[in-house]
Amino acid sequence: MTRVARILERVLGVPAGATPLPAPLDMLIATILSQNTNDKNSHRAYTTLRERFPTWEGVAGAPMRSIRSAIRTGGMANQKSGRIQHTLEKIRSRYGAYDLSPLADLSDDEVFEVLLDIDGVGVKTASCVLLFSLGREVFPVDTHIHRICGRLGLASGCRTPEQTFAAVKELIPKGRAYTLHTNMIRFGRRICRAVHPACGECPLFADCVYPEKRRERSIRTNASPADHDFMLLDNVR
Ligand code: SF4
Repeated sequence: MTRVARILERVLGVPAGATPLPAPLDMLIATILSQNTNDKNSHRAYTTLRERFPTWEGVAGAPMRSIRSAIRTGGMANQKSGRIQHTLEKIRSRYGAYDLSPLADLSDDEVFEVLLDIDGVGVKTASCVLLFSLGREVFPVDTHIHRICGRLGLASGCRTPEQTFAAVKELIPKGRAYTLHTNMIRFGRRICRAVHPACGECPLFADCVYPEKRRERSIRTNASPADHDFMLLDNVR
């Protein structure tokens, strides 16, 4: 994993993290909204929700149909509106307020325990709160990262992102969880796509155990135009 992190950093750079870090409750709701949709739609849903309801108290007390309407662009509005209000109620009953800042005083395992106790919050969502809001060395595994780790032979036999999370968590180089996660997401969207990965332009070709990689390389599939940096790969192989 250290070699993968190093190669992706050479090719994609070291992404700047958000400052200040987003509040844990904001990140939790944003991550719930991101489930089963793309970044653009989930961002629009989150922005509209916060514009219509500037406080989490307002979201918790609003009619369900108003929440549904605000987050419609993010898809699955029926399920997500209920999940969001349930999440807010659970947090208020635990901490007496719509606020997850007490998580900062807990260990990683304790944070997982609190968040996984909320219906609809899984390991990936909890990991995102830990990494992006609390600045912990936790490596969220979504479908892109699960796929890439499988192709790179880092999570052999893992059938779900949760299994891959458990398999790779001890392999993450110290201090690089944020950079590696962010770079792997970009790599998965642009190069190591689910269908017809651009193996001919891949900086990790030599490391990859994906049986179809040579066949995919022979098919002319281009990385997105923004990825000319992957053409510099000879320097890092
Ligand atoms: S060679 Fe192809 S399948 Fe393997 S990691 Fe690279 S893009 Fe993914």
